[in-house]
Amino acid sequence: MTAFLFDPGPRPSLPVVGSDQLYPVRRIYCVGRNYAAHVREMGRDPDREPPFFFLKPADAIVQNGGTIDYPMRTAMLHHEIELVAAIGTGGRDIPVDRALDHVFGYAVGIDLTRRDLQIEARDTGRPWDTGKAFDESAPCTAIVPAARIGHPTAGRIWLSVDGQSRQEGDIAQLIWSVPETVAALSTLFALAPGDLIMTGTPAGIGPVEPGQRMDGGIAVDGLPALTCTVRRG
Ligand code: MN
Repeated sequence: MTAFLFDPGPRPSLPVVGSDQLYPVRRIYCVGRNYAAHVREMGRDPDREPPFFFLKPADAIVQNGGTIDYPMRTAMLHHEIELVAAIGTGGRDIPVDRALDHVFGYAVGIDLTRRDLQIEARDTGRPWDTGKAFDESAPCTAIVPAARIGHPTAGRIWLSVDGQSRQEGDIAQLIWSVPETVAALSTLFALAPGDLIMTGTPAGIGPVEPGQRMDGGIAVDGLPALTCTVRRG
């Protein structure tokens, strides 16, 4: 048997509500500009352009309740609260009307963003990785199986910083719904069990500073609230 040259470390994973088993995270896909009010606040027209995607590494996952370091090389760490869909059955070219069969469950996540680096990349036509795909950039709750809560299509989505309301929306306002997003993504990548999809953020993005605490959630029965604190500098 051939052994690894060094310990590859643990597989990134998330708890599953109602289970002792863990959901192993393979990839984290993210959808850009998926709520009209957020598209406007980013200075774009919400014209229902086809969904576009970027990725975060699986090891960017931060467990619910965790504390993160303020990331390197930024002066503008921003929060983006998002509904997360967890793929349970893989596939490619998945039709919209079969897409929910591929979704194992849902979670609440934050697409943490180094906004200064993301805007610079966007405006110079460079990749978004430095703005989006950095260490500890994906705080996420446990995954709730769709078998427990169904496939949510409406519910207030919100985030506060130190108790002050920042983001407000409703997942019914998603420009591209979860099945439409799964279908579109599966034309670009072969989806596999363990793939998470962060489905986009509502309006109200803004900065979070060292020592501050983010709380967020989606008002769907059974979905846990998410908390993440930035370590005091
Ligand atoms: Mn986002």
